[in-house]
Amino acid sequence: THAHYGHLDGPVVMIGFGSIGRGTLPLILRHFDVDPAQITVIAPNGDGDHLLKEYGVKRVNCVLTEQNHREVLGPLLTTENGTAFCVNLSVDTSSVAIMRLAREVGALYVDTVIEPWAGLYDNPDLPMAQRTNYALRETLLAERRARPGGRTAVSACGANPGMVSWFVKQALVDVADAVGLEYTTPVDRSDWARLMRDAGVRGIHIAERDTQRSQHPRQIGTFVNTWSVEGFIAEGLQPAELGWGTHERWVPPTARRQEDPLAPALFLEQPGADTRVRTWCPSFGPQYGLCVTHNESISITDYFTVRDGETVQYRPTCHYAYHPCDDAMASWHELLGSAGTLPTEHAILDVDEITGGIDELGVLLYGHDRNAYWYGSRLSNDETRELAPHQNATGLQVTSAVLAAMVWARENPDAGIVEADEIDYRRCLDVQTPYLGPVEGHFTDWTPLMGRSRLFTEDIDASDPWQFRNVLVH
Ligand code: NAD
Repeated sequence: THAHYGHLDGPVVMIGFGSIGRGTLPLILRHFDVDPAQITVIAPNGDGDHLLKEYGVKRVNCVLTEQNHREVLGPLLTTENGTAFCVNLSVDTSSVAIMRLAREVGALYVDTVIEPWAGLYDNPDLPMAQRTNYALRETLLAERRARPGGRTAVSACGANPGMVSWFVKQALVDVADAVGLEYTTPVDRSDWARLMRDAGVRGIHIAERDTQRSQHPRQIGTFVNTWSVEGFIAEGLQPAELGWGTHERWVPPTARRQEDPLAPALFLEQPGADTRVRTWCPSFGPQYGLCVTHNESISITDYFTVRDGETVQYRPTCHYAYHPCDDAMASWHELLGSAGTLPTEHAILDVDEITGGIDELGVLLYGHDRNAYWYGSRLSNDETRELAPHQNATGLQVTSAVLAAMVWARENPDAGIVEADEIDYRRCLDVQTPYLGPVEGHFTDWTPLMGRSRLFTEDIDASDPWQFRNVLVH
């Protein structure tokens, strides 16, 4: 039997029915008391029509745009009976615009990324600083400042961004205990930030290794991934970006600061998909990951900043270190090397064509007295098949976080706009854990200086393993 999280008493509007939408719908039907007839899916193509028929859920075929979104969504989200819910799982739609509309009409809202309308990520005429996730997050924070409080909207709450913010808190408590720190349980943001500082954490990798593989070899010219290809290409071609910690002594030559001197992040004048960093995951130990920009790199760094007035006293470095599935790694190599001629096709690996592998997704808290600690989910595709339909392991880590965000929003309907860092991590992990496979913590002695400089001279800082200078492959 599955846990029940109450009645959804108004219309549910899901935007997008790609890999994440298809996996989320059965979880909504499973865990909430909701009639399929209450649900509408908006997506501009016929993919998955058979599934919607099977579930008895109606579809509106529509490309949402800046011009039409109020006209299309307004009536669907406006109701006299109960509270409407907008679950945005699409690409190329403005999260902030749709969230604003939802809150105006009293609907709850969740999404998994701060997405802009089409045409921002790939517009070469926009200054690079505006193509960063810092800039996108600032649009969200401006919306919150302009319209404080009100209906709850949970921003950017999938696996990462999303769940990993809850992992960071659990991992921090584990590290604080392991290093023997005496502390009181944090209640607010500044308590958490001080705990991060006092535990001696210098930085955090979102350290992920996806080993899912298909029974069909990848064809040259096809970009293969385990979740949205469009989404991954868009973020991989944004500038690499990271939350910048106060312990950093070296700045990469391609690094640029944002105009605001208080910005917690900096970006590199190079695509994240072409920026490698050294990291560590439990299955294979040391590995390269891609420093693809992500919302959580900035929100986590910001959340754990210790300030004295305007002065920043402490801030951890935070960035993504993503080893996508091998087919996606090869796809990037082809995309970046082919001068825009490839790929011509996109494919998302389906749960049934995957023959094995896991998505090992966690957070690596480093620099403290116990060196480094990885905490996360090690979910296999095989286990996923037993747990929930229509998704692979990557998908389930995301959709179960969407479920947790929905549960939290329903239980806290008037919390205004919130990020995953700001909501009850224990409640959310309670909801999510049944879907995460083994959730484990591992200490490691690995540092980015391990095994270096044997055959070549390298630019390292031997005095401090945890400098970004040692983490970045350069
Ligand atoms: P997908 O590419 O499989 O599907 C995207 C969906 O959006 C499709 O149904 C498509 O028809 C729809 N869509 C595209 N343009 C639209 C428009 N203008 N109006 C309405 N619908 C539109 O993507 P996915 O793998 O399902 O991912 C969905 C979203 O979730 C993406 O934004 C992705 O970045 C995000 N995501 C977040 C996480 C996380 O952990 N936070 C993980 C995976 C995906």
